[in-house]
Amino acid sequence: MRKFILAAAAALLCACRSDAQPLPAGPPKLLVVISVDQFSASLFDEYRPKFTGGLARLAGGTVFSNGFQSHAATETCPGHSTILTGDHPARTGIVGNIWIDQTIGRSDKTIYCAEDESQPGSSSIDYKVSSRHLLVPTLGELMKARWPASRSVAVAGKDRAAVMMTGRNVDQRWYWTGKTFDTDLATASLPLTVARARMAIAAALTQPQPPLEPPPYCQTKAREVAVTGGGRPVGTGRLGRAAGDASALRASPELDGDTLAIALGLVDEMQLGRRADPDLLAISLSATDYVGHTYGTEGEEMCLQLLELDREIGDFLKLLDSRGIDYAVALTADHGGKDIPERERLAGVASAARVDPALSPATMGKKLVAQFGLSGPGLLGDSPFGDMYVDKNLKPADRNRLLAAAVAAYKAHPQVEAVFTATQIARTALPTGDPEKWTLIERARASYHSGRSGDFLVMLKKDITPIADTSRYVATHGSPWDYDRRVPILFWRPAAAGAAVEHSADTTDIMPTLASMIGLELAPESVDGHCLADVAFASCKPR
Ligand SMILES: [Zn+2]
Repeated sequence: MRKFILAAAAALLCACRSDAQPLPAGPPKLLVVISVDQFSASLFDEYRPKFTGGLARLAGGTVFSNGFQSHAATETCPGHSTILTGDHPARTGIVGNIWIDQTIGRSDKTIYCAEDESQPGSSSIDYKVSSRHLLVPTLGELMKARWPASRSVAVAGKDRAAVMMTGRNVDQRWYWTGKTFDTDLATASLPLTVARARMAIAAALTQPQPPLEPPPYCQTKAREVAVTGGGRPVGTGRLGRAAGDASALRASPELDGDTLAIALGLVDEMQLGRRADPDLLAISLSATDYVGHTYGTEGEEMCLQLLELDREIGDFLKLLDSRGIDYAVALTADHGGKDIPERERLAGVASAARVDPALSPATMGKKLVAQFGLSGPGLLGDSPFGDMYVDKNLKPADRNRLLAAAVAAYKAHPQVEAVFTATQIARTALPTGDPEKWTLIERARASYHSGRSGDFLVMLKKDITPIADTSRYVATHGSPWDYDRRVPILFWRPAAAGAAVEHSADTTDIMPTLASMIGLELAPESVDGHCLADVAFASCKPR
């Protein structure tokens, strides 16, 4: 199906040339920014020698193998908010995939990061998609302000990825909803590309997808591993699916293939990169994340996913070449990730374990409320780590008592590394410099925003997986540890010299680096990131 859609897209409104044309001098006309969801630097390092397609091509560009999503809240929404704003989540305002707003006049106090909760009927589960929570402009917005004819386009496997990479004033924004590709923009007419892709995907979904045939390297990874917490064993899946199984579609290379096919179709249909002013195409490929959550990162499943991802990005770049467009690519990830603790223990990581369910805010809150003879939930939060909120309905004195008791109880737990109150985090200066050297509270500060972040923040010890019930997902990310923070940062342009860079870079550096390539001046100190002078085709000003 992927090949079918790519072929269809190639034929669509395409002024294809038979050979790649010589590249014009000057700034690229199309910036292609690819985020691979949950693509940790450790996975990139491991698979780099195996890549032969698009990821091999990009790895021949400027490679920052020590890239960092440097903040503590290593989730999809904050991570995507850094890539094209140049700012840490402390400035973008995107402190997590969700946060709690106890003042909102609806029973659901959880706010989804890409939701417009002011819209009637919106909830954190069934939400109206919006960019309103993003507090800073994106590269696409600044390009359109500078060059009104410039186009900003996003295509993604998740709505929050598409929204956080493009923000406001967007020409096209399409994302997979779990059923189809949709947009939050009021569109006058449906792009032909999207209409065709929707039909092709719906038709493909009615058919089963056969399991992938594993190449020899993936066969060496095939070993069934039992998972505690109710989940099924993992390790030997081959990413096929039954007819109609849309959740299996998204945890397979099919979703990335569909996303790239729509992106390419929009390049043709909108004639991106073909006029005087530069255009931006933001792509977020989500299947790696769903594969990681569903199967972990060190089995046959992730191996098949990453080798297919490499092939699909390669197909996409070859088709871009055939258009003769002068383009540059940046590729990174919204966060890293970690394998299941059961397989890690087999590999000798003795500290790997699943979280104690007693750390969930609901359980902890209930215990403390009973202890103090209070009523209500006591604590609010969505997971056994990260932002925790004290019930606002309690009297101020009781809130303070409960906060102190909760901080002490979490700190006393053997699986907890650190607990910081909002007051402590807010007093900490926004960190700068090498993200590898930041302290834990500095990492927390980089994704802290007053009014959205919790009353206190819980950090679990390294190697603790915060999933106890594995019936849905077996592995995740979200911690302040480097396995979740370290991501590849790659820049590539045809014929440009490559470089292997050892020193750290931050994903907030991507936006100012891209801006320099197209001659877009940023106001001094207007973003957290810095132009990366190691990129041969960047035009960084001396600092
Ligand atoms: Zn993600």
